[in-house]
This record gives sequence, C-alpha cells and structure tokens, in this order.
Amino acid sequence: MSPITPDDVTRREFLETVAKTGGQSFLFGSLFVNTALLRLPQAGADPKSRAEAEVGKGIVYGFVVDTTKCIGCGSCVRACRAENGVPEGYNRTWVEQYTFYPDGEVFVNSPNGGENGFADPAPTRNKPTGPEAPMRGFFVPKLCNHCIDTPCIQVCPVGASFKTDEGVVLVDHERCVGCGYCVQACPFGSRYLNPETGTADKCTWCHHRVIKGLLPACVVSCPAEARIFGNVSDPESTISRILATNRVQVLKSFLGTRPRTRYIGLDSEVI
Ligand code: SF4
Ligand code: SF4
Repeated sequence: MSPITPDDVTRREFLETVAKTGGQSFLFGSLFVNTALLRLPQAGADPKSRAEAEVGKGIVYGFVVDTTKCIGCGSCVRACRAENGVPEGYNRTWVEQYTFYPDGEVFVNSPNGGENGFADPAPTRNKPTGPEAPMRGFFVPKLCNHCIDTPCIQVCPVGASFKTDEGVVLVDHERCVGCGYCVQACPFGSRYLNPETGTADKCTWCHHRVIKGLLPACVVSCPAEARIFGNVSDPESTISRILATNRVQVLKSFLGTRPRTRYIGLDSEVI
C-alpha cells in the first residue's frame, strides 16, 4: 500500500477531526512545535512515522498560491498563528494587498500581516471604476519559499538550518544559537528571531502536521482554496495537476534561489 499523502486528506476529513478533538489539534501544535517536532526524521524512529516512510521514496513537497482566488480574509494567517504559536507582532505567513492607481502608483498594504483581513475590499481585477479610483488590485499571500538553493542554510554557522529529503527547509531549535544570520540572508523576509525561544523561526509548511498525513493549517483554513500543498513528484496529485495546467511563477526569480513555493496570477509588480 502506498503511503498516505496530504493530497489524500480532504478538508472535510480534517475539519471532522478538529470537531472531534474540540480543536485540540491546533492547540497542541501551538504548544509543541518549537522543539521536538521540527527534527530531521531519523532512521529507527517511530515506525509509524510518515517521515520515515517517505525518505527515499521520492516524495517532494511543493506549495502553490493562487493569487486569483485569494480574498484577503486572513484566515490563513490566524490559523498559522494558532497552529504554530507564532508570537504577536511576527508572522510565518502574511497577506499583502496590492492596489494600482491610474497615475502608476502601486500601493502595498499588509496591516498586521493581513491577519484581520482588509478594510477595503479587493478592487475588481482589470476593471477601473473611475478616473481616481484604483484601477485594480489583488492579494498576495506570502510565506517561506522553501528554496532549493538556500542562502539561509548557507550562512548558518552551526548547521541549524537544514533541508529534509522532501524539500522542506527547517530550523533545528536545539542547535540554533540565535545569531540571526539567516534572518538577514533570506531575501524574502521569511524569517524572524522568535523572542520567546531566542531562535530563528519561519514557515515549515507545517512539517509536524505533514508527517502525520495532514495538510498545513493555512491550506486547511483557506475558504477560497487559494493555497495548495502536496507531493509534486506524484503526477496524479492535485498540486501536480495544477502545476501542469497553469502558468506559475516564483517570487524574485532573478535571485536564483529556486523557490518551491510557486504562484498563479502573480503580477510583474509584485515584489
Ligand atoms: S524563503 Fe528565505 S527562509 Fe525560506 S528557504 Fe528561501 S531563503 Fe530560506
Ligand atoms: S485564507 Fe485563503 S483567501 Fe483568505 S487570505 Fe489566506 S490565502 Fe487568501
């Protein structure tokens, strides 16, 4: 029997699980994610571990953000904070609102990381509503790109930042000395120093959930299905089908970090 992949776990199944546990899966994730759950899968670990089953079997994870679907509700930001215990004032994922005006100005807004949504509704794409009104606008959720070529890993002096066999970039909080080099090196602003732990933090694609066969919290919480996560090495997975049938882009491709987080509908003005 082939191992379960996150694509096999439906949103409905997840929500049923949350309902049965009174939402404790989110709470437990918040409490314990900082240490033991963010280790490299070790040979000889729990035989039921999906991480162990995946190693060597060619699973490579990817993430797609469909900016044409995002409604800027902020559910993903709130779910991430609850799941991962992200301190107030910091974000592992955030949503930016891009608004374009007739004079060529581009306004980028992300109040509180978009956690509480946006006061102004998203202007309709490509349909100007008046001479002074914004011409168009859209939302761009951001998170760690889980780059293939990682400046954040390269600068770490103690080897605390690492990449799993499935392509997930993680931080070993036992090793991290909190020097902040990786925070400076990431050209996407994806990392921060956690004031509670004194170590580097960032989006893990909810690795602690993925190794249990669950989807990342932000993916589950998104009502617009603007976030897609899965095994890109499986041609039958949802994410592979989406990648095969859409034109996708990455942030700051000119930097050559080769992000695994890809975007649909990304405007050229997006930074
Ligand atoms: S987005 Fe930043 S933190 Fe994430 S893998 Fe790339 S360089 Fe590292
Ligand atoms: S939950 Fe989905 S629709 Fe809402 S802001 Fe996040 S990505 Fe956009």
